[in-house]
Amino acid sequence: MRITRLVSKTLRTDPAEAETVSHRLMLKAGMVSQVTAGVYSYLPLAWRALRKVENIIREEIDAAGGQELRLPVLQPVELWEQTGRKDAFGDNLFTLQDRRQRALVMAPTHEEVITNVARANVQSYRDLPLMLYQIQTKFRDEPRPRAGLIRVREFDMKDAYSFDADEEGLDVSYQAMAQAYRNIYRRCGLTALMAEADSGAIGGKDSHEFLLVTPSGEDTVITCPRCQYAANAEKARCVISPSTGEAPKGMEDVSTPGIKTIAALCEHLGITHDHTLKAVFYAADGELVFVTIRGDLEVNEVKLKNALDVNELRLATDEEVAAGGLVAGSASPVGLHNIRKVADPSIQFGSNFVAGANKPDTHLRNVNYPRDFTIDLITDITLAQPGHGCPDCGNPMEAARGIEVGHIFKLGSFFSEALGAQYLDQAGQLHPMLMGCYGIGVGRLLAAAIEQNHDDKGIVFPAPIAPYQVQLVGLNMSDPDVASAAGALYQQLWDEGLETLFDDRTEDSAGVKLNDADLLGLPVRLVVSPRNLRSGMVELKGRADSEATMVPADDVVQHVRDSLPSRH
Ligand SMILES: [Zn+2]
Repeated sequence: MRITRLVSKTLRTDPAEAETVSHRLMLKAGMVSQVTAGVYSYLPLAWRALRKVENIIREEIDAAGGQELRLPVLQPVELWEQTGRKDAFGDNLFTLQDRRQRALVMAPTHEEVITNVARANVQSYRDLPLMLYQIQTKFRDEPRPRAGLIRVREFDMKDAYSFDADEEGLDVSYQAMAQAYRNIYRRCGLTALMAEADSGAIGGKDSHEFLLVTPSGEDTVITCPRCQYAANAEKARCVISPSTGEAPKGMEDVSTPGIKTIAALCEHLGITHDHTLKAVFYAADGELVFVTIRGDLEVNEVKLKNALDVNELRLATDEEVAAGGLVAGSASPVGLHNIRKVADPSIQFGSNFVAGANKPDTHLRNVNYPRDFTIDLITDITLAQPGHGCPDCGNPMEAARGIEVGHIFKLGSFFSEALGAQYLDQAGQLHPMLMGCYGIGVGRLLAAAIEQNHDDKGIVFPAPIAPYQVQLVGLNMSDPDVASAAGALYQQLWDEGLETLFDDRTEDSAGVKLNDADLLGLPVRLVVSPRNLRSGMVELKGRADSEATMVPADDVVQHVRDSLPSRH
C-alpha cells in the first residue's frame, strides 16, 4: 500500500479524548475513528491487524479441537427469559422490536443459542466432547464505554463453548482452552497473567481471567509474589489473622455519644479496627439485608451478590435503614430480628468485639459469636487487599491493575438444564451436558497488545499482528532516482511476500516521514535516500532497535526476512 493512497492520515497532535496509550496511539496513527460512544470504525490499518489477531485465535482454537460455526446476532427475547439472563444482563442487553412488535435481543454472548445447537445434535455420550466456536460481533450496552477499544458497545469476540459428559471431560476441555489462550497471547506478543475470576451467579466452580498488567487497567488483580496465586480482586481470597485470643468476657453497654463510624469508635475507645464488628445494610433485589464483618475489613460486594444470588445489590439508604426500624450508625447483629443477617467468617477471628447496640449513642463491648447473636449465612465476603495473607502460602499479597484480555468459565449444567440439552450415557440414562465457555475480545486484544508494546514515539507492533511488516520510506521522492529505486524495491518486497507500506509522499519532510514510521511502529523500516543510493545501500532499522544499519540494496529482502521473527 502506498501512503498517498491510504484512506487514513496520521494526526500531528495528541487527540484530547484519548484515555489510554492504546487509544491515543490508534487515533493518532489513523487506525480507528469513533462513530458514537463505544462504537468505532476500524480503518484499514486497524482492520489488517485485527484480521491477523483473528487468524491467530482461529488457528489456536482449531488446533485445540474447535469447530467454527456462525450463530445469529438477532435472537428472540424468550430464549433469554428461559435462562433468566434477560434480567441478569439488565440494561446491558440491547433489545429491539421487529415490525410485528416481537422483542428481539442483539446478542452480547451466545450460550442460549449454542446450547440449542448441542441439544439438537447430540444424542449420546458418543457425540461428546464438542468444542464449538465463532468469531463474531457482539453488542453490549455498557454504562461507561471507555478507553478506545478496551470497553466498547459493539465488538468482535471469539466465543467458544465446550460440551462434555462429565466433570473430568469438562476439566480436559477447560485446560485445553487455557493452553490455547496462552499460545494466542504469546503469538500476539503479550504477557498475560492467568488469575482466578468471579464466575457470577450462574457460574460453575472454576473461572479464570487472563489479565494484562498495566496501570490503565480497569480490573484490580491480587497476586502473591512468592507463589503463583493470582486472582481478580472481585474473587480473591485471603487469610486473616485473629485480632486477639483472649477468653470471652461479659457483654456490656458502653456510651458512645454522637459516634457513627468505626474510625470514631476506635478513637473514642482507644482500640484498633480489628477489635470491632462493622455493620452494613444492603438492598438486595429490594430486600433489606444486614451484613457484618470485622471492622478492619471491607465487604466485597461481588462475593456478597453471588452469595445472596440476586441481580441487584447496592448499599441501603439511611431512609431504607430507618424504615426497617434500625439505627445505621450503631447497628449490630445482637438482638436483631426480622431481617436476613449475613456475616463474614472474620467475625470469629478474634473475641470480645465492640459492636453496635441498635440504639443511638451506645455500643456493646465483649460481643462474641455465636454466644451473643445468630447469623443466617456465614460466607466469605472479605475484599482481599494488598498486605493480606495469600490463601495458598500466607505471604503478604500485592495488588496491580490489569486489562482483562480473556475469560474462561466452567458453566456446568446451568444452560443445559434450563434448555434441556441432555445426552444418554452408556446405561441409557439421560444427563445434562456439562458446559464451559471461553471468550476473547479481538479488538481488546489488539488494544492490549499496543498497551504492552509501545514507546514514547509510538506503537512497537509485534510482527505477527502488525498491519504490514515493512515501512518503506522514500526520502526526497521528487528525486527521480529515489522514486524509481524505492518504487522498484516496493514491488520487489511484495513479490517476495513481504507486506509493505510505502511512504511515497513527495511533499513531506524526512522528519515527518520518520516520525510517522515510528508512530505506526511496523516491525522493519527501510529508508531509500539519495545519499544511500549513491553507495548502493538501503538503511534498515527494526522498530525496537536503537540503531539503524546499512545493508546492500541487492540483499535487502534477505535482511528484512532475517530481522522478522519466524511465524510461531
Ligand atoms: Zn502465595
